[in-house]
Amino acid sequence: MSSEKTTNVPATNFIRNIIEHDLEKGTYQNRRWGGSPGDAAHHSNGSPDPAKIRTRFPPEPNGYLHIGHAKSIFLNFGLARDYDGVCHMRFDDTNPEKEEQEYVDSIIDMVQWLGFGWEKYGTTHLYFASDYFDFMYRAAEALIEAGHAYVDEQSAEEMRINRGTLTEPGKDSPYRNRSAAENLRLFREMRDGKHPDGSMVLRAKIDMASPNINLRDPAIYRIRRATHHNTGDKWCIYPMYTYAHPIEDALEQITHSICTLEFEDQRPFYDWVLLRLAELGLLAHPLPRQYEFARLNLTYVVLSKRKLIELVENKHVNGWDDPRLPTLAGARRRGYTPEGFRLFTDRIGVSKADSWIDYTILEDCMREVLNASAQRRIAVLDPIRLVINNYPEGQEEDCHAPNHPQKPELGHRVVPLSKELWIEREDFMEEPVKGYFRLYPGNMVRLRYGYVVKCTGFDKDANGNVTTVYCDYLPDTKSGTSGADSVKVKGNIHWVSVAHAYTAEVRLYDRLFKEAHPGTDDRDYLDDLNPDSIKVITAQLEPSLKEAKPEETFQFERHGYFVADRIDSTVGKPVFNRTVTLRDAWQKK
Ligand code: ATP
Ligand code: MG
Repeated sequence: MSSEKTTNVPATNFIRNIIEHDLEKGTYQNRRWGGSPGDAAHHSNGSPDPAKIRTRFPPEPNGYLHIGHAKSIFLNFGLARDYDGVCHMRFDDTNPEKEEQEYVDSIIDMVQWLGFGWEKYGTTHLYFASDYFDFMYRAAEALIEAGHAYVDEQSAEEMRINRGTLTEPGKDSPYRNRSAAENLRLFREMRDGKHPDGSMVLRAKIDMASPNINLRDPAIYRIRRATHHNTGDKWCIYPMYTYAHPIEDALEQITHSICTLEFEDQRPFYDWVLLRLAELGLLAHPLPRQYEFARLNLTYVVLSKRKLIELVENKHVNGWDDPRLPTLAGARRRGYTPEGFRLFTDRIGVSKADSWIDYTILEDCMREVLNASAQRRIAVLDPIRLVINNYPEGQEEDCHAPNHPQKPELGHRVVPLSKELWIEREDFMEEPVKGYFRLYPGNMVRLRYGYVVKCTGFDKDANGNVTTVYCDYLPDTKSGTSGADSVKVKGNIHWVSVAHAYTAEVRLYDRLFKEAHPGTDDRDYLDDLNPDSIKVITAQLEPSLKEAKPEETFQFERHGYFVADRIDSTVGKPVFNRTVTLRDAWQKK
C-alpha cells in the first residue's frame, strides 16, 4: 500500500467548479453578515461577510446519523474549510413530530467526532430552524398581502385530485381567488387555533397548469397541534419543509445549498420562494442557490431511517451504536475512524449520477488508514496449547516484537516466552494438506519473534479434537540473533505465553446483511440479515493488550484490525471488537 493513497487531495468535482467560478466572478463578494441569521435589514446593517462562502449541514433531528450523512458532512464542511468559508451546523427541526433532544446530542457528537466544528469568526454557527418560525410566519403574511398565497379549504382528497398528473394539468381550487384581506384573516385564525387540524392549508399561488407538479400551488403552512421540542405549544401551524428550507438558507446567508438529487424538482420552488421574498424586501440578493448531488448508496447495508429504527426497536441489533449498524455511532464503536471516512468520501467523489458503492471500498479505506496507524499486537483467537518439551519449566525470556513493521520509530515491545504457549488451532494439522507449511508432526516452523521449533507429537480429547501439540526448540535460532538464519523454515506462526496471556472477550463482527442489496427481488430485507454477523469468543492476547484504552486500535497480526470497545471495556479489562479483517473475504463469495 503506497502512502500517496492515504494523503490524497480531494479530486475536483462539479460543486467545486461552481464555487471556484463564483469566487472568480465575485458573485458573493459584496454580501454583508449581520453577525447572526436574519432578514435583509439585519444583514444590511452588518459588516462585509468575512466568510467567502457559506454552506450548511442540515439534519432533521429524527434519527441517528449514518454513513450516508458522512458524505454530506465531509462535502459541506470540507468545502467551507477549503474555500475560506463557514459551514453552519443547522438542525432542520420544523417538523414538530419525532424530533428529540437525544438525536440532537448524538448528531453534534458525531459531526465533532468526524473532526468538524462550527466556531468561526468569533461566532458559533449552530442554528435551529425552529428559531426562524417568526420570520417564516411574517414572510407568509407578506406573500398573502402580495397575492402570492391563499388559504385553501379543499379536503386533502380534493386537493390530490385537483393537482392533476404528469400528463394532465391541475384544476384551480374554488378558494384560489379570495381577497388578500380574507386570506390574511383566515391565516391568522389558523395561527390562533380557530380551525381544526387538516381543515385548511396555506398554499403558494403559482400555476396549477405548470408542467412541474411541485409548482402547482404547493402547501406552505399546515395546521398541526403538536408540542415542538424547542417552541413548545406556541404554534399550532407549521411551515412545510419545501417552504422552510430556502428561508433557513437565506436567513443564514448560505451561498451554496447542497442537497441530494431527489430535491432537483423542488429547485424551481426554492427559487420562487426566495425571489418573491426578495421582491418584497424581506431578503437581499445574492440569494442562496441550491445544487444537487447523488446520495450515497452502499451495498450490504440499509441507510433508510425507517429501517434503521426497525432494526433497533425490534432488537435485531443491540442499540443505535451496535458495531454492525451503518450509523456513525455504530461505526465508531466498530473501530472505523474519521480518517477512514475522509479517505472514503474523497475516493467515492461527488457526482450528479446515482450509483452504488461497494461496501468493500469502505472497508479498504479503513484497512488502509489502520494499516498506517495501528500498532501490531499478537492475539490467539482459537487457542490450542503448544508445549516446548526441552524448554525448562519455570523459565521465561523476553522476545522483542516491533510495534509497526514500516515504522521503526514506534519501537518494540517485550513479549514473554515460556514453556507453554497458546497457538492457533489452524496452525497445526495432524495430516498436512499439500502446500501446508505450518506445524505437523516432524515439521519445523518459526515461532514469530522467537525460536524455530520442530513438532514431536500431539494429544486429542475424546471427541478427536487436538488439545495440545508438543515440540522441541532449537536454542540457537532466536530471532534477532546471529543464529536466526541458520535453519530455514517456510512457516511462521504467532503465539502467546500461557502463563502471561490476557484472556479476553473478543467480538468478531461481520457484515449485517448477507445480500448486497437487502430486500430486493421481493424479499423482506430482514430475511437478508447475516445470521453470523457477530461471534463472541474468548481469546488469548499478549499481555500488553490488558492496558489498551477504550478506542485504541491495533492490528492483531494475521487476523485484522481490532479496537478496544469504548462502552464495555473497563480499566485493565478491555473487550475488543473486530473492525475489519486483513483481507476481503466477501469478494470470493
Ligand atoms: P429523512 O429526510 O428521510 O428524514 P435524510 O436521510 O434526508 O432522512 P436528513 O437528516 O434530512 O436525513 O439529512 C441531513 C443531510 O444529509 C441532508 O442534507 C441530506 O441530503 C444528507 N444525506 C442524507 N442521506 C444521505 C446519503 N445517503 N448520502 C448523502 N447525503 C445524505
Ligand atoms: Mg431529509
